[in-house]
Amino acid sequence: MSDVRLRDGGPYSLYCYDCGRWIPNTANAEMQKEGAYAHGHYCFVASGELKIVGEKGIKEEGCQGMDNLTINWREEVKKLFAYLWRVKKEKQFTSINPTDVVNNMCEDGYEDMSENFDYKDKDFIKAQELLNAWLKHDSVLDMYEEDCKVAVLLDDVIEAAKRARQNIEKRYSK
Ligand SMILES: [Zn+2]
Repeated sequence: MSDVRLRDGGPYSLYCYDCGRWIPNTANAEMQKEGAYAHGHYCFVASGELKIVGEKGIKEEGCQGMDNLTINWREEVKKLFAYLWRVKKEKQFTSINPTDVVNNMCEDGYEDMSENFDYKDKDFIKAQELLNAWLKHDSVLDMYEEDCKVAVLLDDVIEAAKRARQNIEKRYSK
């Protein structure tokens, strides 16, 4: 138990993937810069109940976390299968407005820029159209969020990867 790793987007920089809690990083600033981390969190299951020793952290909102039913279910599943949590692709940016970008730049000291800027310039209008089209694509700006309500069996993942590899080999062996 206590699979604690770095994770973005929470109240602390570490996350325990076993009990679904955010955990503070106690490594010093110099170590953190190098990607190192330390924590005082230890969790385990004893007679069907979650026990936490040391740092309790903050339970993630909306995440299934570890109630007693979940603990028992997960312990049973772990005996039978290896699994990962499903990830869902989430769009981080659904709109980018060049007018806002220009106005924000003006706030940084170019006060007269917003008055003199030609918002009707055809290339500026074209820029908005291109941004809109680009944001509809799959993008490197998208993020994968873990969905801890759905487990994916590792055996299925391995089989899917094998099939994908065979398809690629077929395509390039011609
Ligand atoms: Zn934990």
